[in-house]
Amino acid sequence: MYWFHNTLFSANLQTHTATIRLTFAYTGYTRSGSDIQLIIKLIQLYKDHPEKNCRNCGKELHGRSDQVFCNDTCRNTYNRGKRRESQGSLDPYIAKVIRVIQRNHQIMIRYMPGGEPRVISRYELIDAGFHFKYFTSISITRKQEIYHYCFDRGWKELENGKILLVFSFEQLEI
Ligand SMILES: [Zn+2]
Repeated sequence: MYWFHNTLFSANLQTHTATIRLTFAYTGYTRSGSDIQLIIKLIQLYKDHPEKNCRNCGKELHGRSDQVFCNDTCRNTYNRGKRRESQGSLDPYIAKVIRVIQRNHQIMIRYMPGGEPRVISRYELIDAGFHFKYFTSISITRKQEIYHYCFDRGWKELENGKILLVFSFEQLEI
């Protein structure tokens, strides 16, 4: 009967749960009539107030009745999974381009984690998996310098196969 208390009595009813566990562990649940009465009562209570579990990790929730996740990490993990699912239903070409742009962004973050401009060779970027063809926005300065961005990270082509990496928060504005 272990599964019985494990599945039915582990939530909400802290005090009762402790009692039932003792009963199961040391005396067995059929030993006394009052225990059976308590179990029946608990089953009723459980039916009226079913346990709620985190939608991501399945852990029991003890918070507000509208709580869905145990914490922000679980919420984010769940939502990321959902997003990935919905991307999976996109046209495969579009999903591929989105992945390329995300990878470009990741690579630029790796080379300038704090966002300070940095000069790097074009080949090093390509070796890292960078794809110059895809970006999310373009910015041309008054001096006719062209910057391509993937979200808030961008690049400008310099001479001699060098690339200037830059950060611009404004590029996130739509
Ligand atoms: Zn969780």
